[in-house]
Amino acid sequence: MDVQHYRHALVNKRSESLGSGGIKPLQASMENNTRQGDMADQASGNNEVHIQLKLKATDAKILQAIDEALRRIEAGTYGICRDCGEPIAEPRLNAIPWTRVCITCKEKQRA
Ligand SMILES: [Zn+2]
Repeated sequence: MDVQHYRHALVNKRSESLGSGGIKPLQASMENNTRQGDMADQASGNNEVHIQLKLKATDAKILQAIDEALRRIEAGTYGICRDCGEPIAEPRLNAIPWTRVCITCKEKQRA
């Protein structure tokens, strides 16, 4: 397994998450709402804020998972399932590089 490949993917995803959002779009939308613009503009402005907040909550969770995954790379335990200790399948790591459990254990959690 090419751990460096996953480290890159994780670092990229982290900077992507940190770079997007922030408070600037939110402030811009709030300024728009105080103006007497047309209703359609205000509506789309509100939707954007809503989406931003939703994305940020998800990002925070992913960021935490990314940091943990990077620590596992440092520790040499990356790609090992937290629950059963088996290697996590590479297609799964390619799809979700910050995952902690293999697909079998993930499905057990859901059941
Ligand atoms: Zn497992």
